[in-house]
Amino acid sequence: MPSVTLPDGSQKHYEQPVTVGDIAADIGPGLAKAAVAGKVDGRVVDLSATVPDNAEVAILTPTDDEGLDVIRHSTAHLLAEAVKELFPEAQVTIGPVIDNGFYYDFAYERAFTPEDLEAIEDKMAEIAERDEPVRREVWERDEAVRFFKDQGEDYKAEIIKEIPDNQDVSVYWQGDFVDLCRGPHVPSTGKLKAFKLTKVSGAYWRGDARNEMLQRVYGTAWPDNKALKRYLKQLEEAEKRDHRRLGKQLDLFSIQEDAGGGLVFWHPKGARIRNRIEAYWRAEHERGGYEFVNTPHLADLDLWQTSGHTDFYSDSMYPPMEVEGHPFEIKPMNCPFHVLMFKDELRSYRELPMRWAELGTVYRYEMSGSLHGLMRVRGFTQDDAHIFCREDQMEAEIGGVLELILRVLGTFGFDEVDLYLATKPEEKSVGSDDIWDKATAALRGAIESRGLDYHVEEGDGAFYGPKIDFKIRDAIGRQWQCSTIQLDFNLPERFEMEYVDESGNRSRPIMIHRAIFGSLERFFGVLIEHYAGKFPAWLAPVQVQVLPITDDQADYAEQVANRLKAAGFWADADLRNEKVGFKIRQHTMDKVPYMLVVGDREKSAGQVAVRHRSGEDLGAMELDTFIDRLRAEVDNKQIESEG
Ligand SMILES: [Zn+2]
Ligand SMILES: [Zn+2]
Repeated sequence: MPSVTLPDGSQKHYEQPVTVGDIAADIGPGLAKAAVAGKVDGRVVDLSATVPDNAEVAILTPTDDEGLDVIRHSTAHLLAEAVKELFPEAQVTIGPVIDNGFYYDFAYERAFTPEDLEAIEDKMAEIAERDEPVRREVWERDEAVRFFKDQGEDYKAEIIKEIPDNQDVSVYWQGDFVDLCRGPHVPSTGKLKAFKLTKVSGAYWRGDARNEMLQRVYGTAWPDNKALKRYLKQLEEAEKRDHRRLGKQLDLFSIQEDAGGGLVFWHPKGARIRNRIEAYWRAEHERGGYEFVNTPHLADLDLWQTSGHTDFYSDSMYPPMEVEGHPFEIKPMNCPFHVLMFKDELRSYRELPMRWAELGTVYRYEMSGSLHGLMRVRGFTQDDAHIFCREDQMEAEIGGVLELILRVLGTFGFDEVDLYLATKPEEKSVGSDDIWDKATAALRGAIESRGLDYHVEEGDGAFYGPKIDFKIRDAIGRQWQCSTIQLDFNLPERFEMEYVDESGNRSRPIMIHRAIFGSLERFFGVLIEHYAGKFPAWLAPVQVQVLPITDDQADYAEQVANRLKAAGFWADADLRNEKVGFKIRQHTMDKVPYMLVVGDREKSAGQVAVRHRSGEDLGAMELDTFIDRLRAEVDNKQIESEG
């Protein structure tokens, strides 16, 4: 008869077979009511699942991350059931959980309208109200294909056909609606209480632009209405900050359809910001003892075979091009190039560590359907660097990178950074246990000796080494992954990298990959949204606009602008024949940090009246005083506190 262990270590014994739901009820009626699923020996299962003997069992409620995923996934089914009730002709396809919610793709003869979305949401509420039990069944694969074909669900049938034919599939019923699904699910639709459909957009079947366009309905779901409201508020704020909209409004960048999706064009104002970021990046790396290198965009396919990229990375690479009968490949990464340069001569232990940094532009294949502004692109510039060092230098090098990353992120106002240490994967990995242990200890040591908090993601490392990933939190609380420090035991092995050690023997160097921004394009997108387009003065593409009140001060306004330019600032005089109030409004919209208003009084006194884009009036002051003030703000890379 089954005994189970609960998360607090206590044990329970039962006289007959029990389900997860029975155990929840046994613990208490409150928990039974809140339960949405269970976790048995680490696997999330339905409440109706029978528990094997000696199992470790946890009850999941919507406030557990995994419980919330079950809620979100079940809400996707609720959405599909509602769509099928309202639009019986619509075909269902897939409906995964995503960050903060879920989506479901439908094939339908026309685009869903906002009115449709409202009707669907009402129907979902109605079905939740009905509290339909959710029931799991296991079918033979071929039987499932036949069933969905008969129902006119061609996409579903196609998905099931790809499952190996000896494998059974599970389906979930709720009311008359049935969907292929691995589960798990909430026990009944009444558990779904706080959800909202957020938008509908076109999406290609399987993310491929050559396929049919489907209707992708997005939604969000939360443990309760309070959390839902908080999220919707954040979403509204995110919409206002959307980097694609602001990028166009502020003339920072574009994606040119004529050139193709996912390829970024930096306009002059965007490039001004990028150049400032790069200059700062270079200065920090010089201080940190890095050398800069530059490498090509193409290389012989053989190189990518040696590096192993053609084996494990081919899905992200473009097809090779032929050059004089030999295949060449556009680079998805910079790493093998740096390895080649290391191997260019026989290295001595005295030369290590070598720290080589490159703003290296790489190209990776992304499905057209997944491209998104600057956040997901096909060509981007990594702020890449590789450190080649001895084993005894490993922890100090990691520590140096860690500090550099936190300092640089802090400069942009990202003070809240979460660290994730990913350790050795269980299945496939290269390198001895000894080196994995040492490297993981070095990563851990670098974090702990600085008194930093971190999360451990057990088994989540790459097959070639452990790593630390960094997630920053932006002004409206969203997390973005950007920086990374990764150990690599694979490339040095594959390229037979060596150095001569202290005793004159050949040794293999340790290789560290690291990036701070990750991708300059994506980081720029995050910055635009983080600042809501209001770049701090040190980054703003136009730092000062000089605004004469009438034509009489036009000459003086130009002089002021020229003095500012000569002092190294991006400044302009707006001499258009418009009212000064109009100009102030416009440059405030353009998020220019400072506007200097000059009338007769300022002109005769050699002063400027300073106005900040926040609306704050800083009063009249000598031009030199303003220049000193702005210079200090820029040199300190000051971040404004106002929102
Ligand atoms: Zn499902
Ligand atoms: Zn690398």
